[in-house]
Amino acid sequence: MKKTSNRTTRRKFLAASGLAVAMGLIRIPSATRAGTPIVVPPLPYPENALEPVISAKTIGFHYRKHHRAYVDNLNKLIAGSEHAEADLETIIRATAGKPEKTPIFNNAAQAWNHAFYWKSLAPNGGGVPAGKIAEMVDASFGGYEGLKKELQNAAVTQFGSGWAWLVVEGEKLKIVKTPNAENPLTAGAKPLIVIDVWEHAYYLDYQNRRADYVAAVIDRLLNWSFASQNL
Ligand code: MN
Repeated sequence: MKKTSNRTTRRKFLAASGLAVAMGLIRIPSATRAGTPIVVPPLPYPENALEPVISAKTIGFHYRKHHRAYVDNLNKLIAGSEHAEADLETIIRATAGKPEKTPIFNNAAQAWNHAFYWKSLAPNGGGVPAGKIAEMVDASFGGYEGLKKELQNAAVTQFGSGWAWLVVEGEKLKIVKTPNAENPLTAGAKPLIVIDVWEHAYYLDYQNRRADYVAAVIDRLLNWSFASQNL
């Protein structure tokens, strides 16, 4: 009778567990990824949950094609490199402002920004923030209408592709806009909420009417409890 040796069993187990890690079935509870790929985090709601403000078609392309492409490209770029085991934020900080690292920075930041964007939105979101963040909004913008106006303005005036952010610096809230993949983390600010103003975020639904997309997102989708958690 043939018996599988312990060594073979162990090798099979390691291969299987490695596969499970690669498939995202096992979470690695540390800042490093032990050589596993960066993953696309689950969308926090169904693809049609943000309708009618953002269509399921837009979310489908945006999440399953655009977001995934940044993550796939990043994994190819960092395989076998000094960044192979770092988490996204570490990669972003390590590559920002280094011309020879631009492709890695762009894909890592876009991966981070998109994961953050999905969480910045919620079905039945919008409205006025409550709690500590509301006090900070009053102190920093003279009230919610002031914040809304600045955020809308930043999102609409970002020339070309980019992002409009609510961030906190010290005790003060600020609105900033960033081009392309740029992220306020690298300027020492802590992001609270973001709106994607790349055309792929709204073109299928709003064509050239970016202002309409931004206004609808602010009024109906912004996830203020996520913003509060980030404080
Ligand atoms: Mn996008």
